[in-house]
Amino acid sequence: MSVNLKSANMVDHALGALLASHCLLCGARGQGALSLCAACAADMPRNATCCAHCALPLETPSPLCGRCIRHAPPWDAAWVPFRYEWPLAQLEARFKFGADLAAGRTLSLLWRASQAPHALPDAIVPVPLHHSRLRKRGYNQALELAKPLAKHFGIPLLRDGLRRSRATHAQTELTAIQRRRNVRGAFEANFDRETPQHVAVLDDVFTTGATLAECVRVLKRVGVQRVDVWALARAPARR
Ligand SMILES: [Zn+2]
Ligand SMILES: [Zn+2]
Repeated sequence: MSVNLKSANMVDHALGALLASHCLLCGARGQGALSLCAACAADMPRNATCCAHCALPLETPSPLCGRCIRHAPPWDAAWVPFRYEWPLAQLEARFKFGADLAAGRTLSLLWRASQAPHALPDAIVPVPLHHSRLRKRGYNQALELAKPLAKHFGIPLLRDGLRRSRATHAQTELTAIQRRRNVRGAFEANFDRETPQHVAVLDDVFTTGATLAECVRVLKRVGVQRVDVWALARAPARR
């Protein structure tokens, strides 16, 4: 038994060393478990100057962006530690479309290591994929990013807290208004036990926020008091 444990540990160490040995982006020597070299890790676009309500990257510090001043989105707070720009966007594309799980692991480590929000939720609910897309891709990238965060904070992960009630078109090619229409009525809340008081809805990339806003509305409608949105990276504003 002890021999087996010892050899399992050795395999772990060997695997760790292998994963850490090269930077996923430039091939230089990696740094610890992150699988990035120091230079590439420093290049990650942190979303330091952003709107306090929707995390939109801002050129100059200001409490809120113009859109949130005019019409605040339905969530209570946003935690989006990165901007969706090179080189993070490259890792995200490899994770999402290339099934590169090492890239996903690096992204979740970057997320975990960034400054956490003051108020943590009672539960994390990932934005679900429709089963047809899930079947094609094999995994839900939001759920995969949510798992290590939930573990890190010791917060329950309610993977089926939201369900897709119908398939939607890919949002990429749609305008902001089309995106909003596309996701309307696409989700339903699903809490088999008690409805949590405070939930964070989690997605990989926050683009226009149409999907997240729809998830927030659905959760509030079933009685969730406070809903925050968490995403790894925030895309710049689009018209
Ligand atoms: Zn590098
Ligand atoms: Zn804003």
